[in-house]
Amino acid sequence: MFILSEDSQRTQGRDAQSSNIMAGKAVAESVRTTLGPRGMDKMLVSSAGDVVITNDGATILNKMDIEHPAAQMIVEVAETQENEVGDGTTTAAVLAGNLLGEAEDLLDQDVHATTIVEGYHEAARIALEAIDEQVVGSEVDDDVLKQVAESSMTGKGTGGLTAEALAETVVSAIRHVDGEDGVARDNVTVHTEVGASSNATEMIEGIVVDEEPAHDEMPTTVEDADISILDVELGVRTGDVDAEYSIDSIDQLNAALDAEESELRGYAQTVADSGVDVLFTTDSVDDRVASFLANEGVLVFDDLNNKDARKIASATGAARVGALDDLADSEFGHADRIRTETYGDEDLVFVEGGAAAEAVTVFVRGGTDHVVDELERTIGDALDVVSTALDSGEVVPGAGATEIAIADRVRSEAAGVEGRKQLAVTAFADALDIIPRTLAANTGQDPIDVLVDLRAAHESEGRAGLVTDGESVEISDPIEHGVVDPADVKREAIESATEAATMIARIDDVIAAE
Ligand code: ADP
Ligand code: MG
Repeated sequence: MFILSEDSQRTQGRDAQSSNIMAGKAVAESVRTTLGPRGMDKMLVSSAGDVVITNDGATILNKMDIEHPAAQMIVEVAETQENEVGDGTTTAAVLAGNLLGEAEDLLDQDVHATTIVEGYHEAARIALEAIDEQVVGSEVDDDVLKQVAESSMTGKGTGGLTAEALAETVVSAIRHVDGEDGVARDNVTVHTEVGASSNATEMIEGIVVDEEPAHDEMPTTVEDADISILDVELGVRTGDVDAEYSIDSIDQLNAALDAEESELRGYAQTVADSGVDVLFTTDSVDDRVASFLANEGVLVFDDLNNKDARKIASATGAARVGALDDLADSEFGHADRIRTETYGDEDLVFVEGGAAAEAVTVFVRGGTDHVVDELERTIGDALDVVSTALDSGEVVPGAGATEIAIADRVRSEAAGVEGRKQLAVTAFADALDIIPRTLAANTGQDPIDVLVDLRAAHESEGRAGLVTDGESVEISDPIEHGVVDPADVKREAIESATEAATMIARIDDVIAAE
């Protein structure tokens, strides 16, 4: 009896497991060389010819256009990692791949998939406990946050800027939006603008929107600005234009024009009388109205898109005004300064010191699209990790030290696990070794030698990582070198890698419809 259509493809049992595991491993393998401070970049070319150069695991996997469903699960590991904690994407993907590799060996030794899954879950639980023990005791202050930012940036494109300078910018941006309810990460925006050297990258205490003044002669800077957002057209009502005029003399024409003129002047007067300094409108503003208002020294931006209108409203506290007559009585928003600036053919508005919300913008400059794009990703990740670290207040040593410690702990607790499950717990520890091994390989060291030395140093000194500092690579305490990662990044990597690997290992029947 056939219950599947003739076209569907079915793979079962060990074959299904093997092909899924192979696909998952292959994907993880593809990002391995980017891990760590000496990780290399990848150039990804889309079918449309767009080029992306990046070191960011999540970006690489996302752009690779992966179709195999099991491989897609590894991509999702990286995505989850990116969404939840903003860093550690390569770590999570590489770990997931190695967990699959170890699972494959166990399956070859006739360990049942269910046993592997149970063992992996047990090991993950031990690993999370081990992470708790690795949390560095000292307070997460600005210095530590800068270290977290710098560690997240090593190996990534910084457009020639020093990681130190960028870390400084990132930490002050996050500090600005750190309130009683934790870090309002969403209030930090990264705005990129091609054209200058990346040295010009700076933090703006406010928001940046892409809008142009309605008239050339309007002020370019307004200090201490009262702001309103109007959702009304300031022009001759379209309805009036459609009305039939029978104009049979020059006088009548002039009268009609005069009427129009005075209507427009009336609008401008209402705006000027309201006392508003800077007006944003989501609708259009007639050139003549703009010209009147320019004379009155009012700065106007018209045809604002809704997203920008919302941003300005939330930063400055300006109410949205739905009728011109309500403008006078409306609550104005406020900003310390509004200035307009032209970059190439783009006009930008900087709204600084908004009264309602602490919003900041990291204004990224760089010579080319590729530079600013990678810089934007690097800064985005750094902002994420710094806010993760600040929110949880916990950091752990980087440079592979935490993984060495976790593996050690998992290995020693494996002895107490009964039956074949023990093999899976040990395999989990072996899989963790991939992180220090890869860091070693990517710095041109022998992975096995480094692993042996790291374990020995961990035994005798307690904390040992493969620290890369400028040109040198040495085994030492990462904390002393300021190489730290947020504990949550490690936790998330363990959890999501375990989840994906166990999910893939459990599948023994793949039915694909054509
Ligand atoms: P991921 O996508 O997993 O964050 P990265 O390429 O950012 O991948 O590499 C992160 C790893 O590099 C972490 O294990 C981190 O501790 C380590 N690392 C960061 N800075 C250094 C350094 N100076 N020396 C050694 N390892 C470092
Ligand atoms: Mg990273």
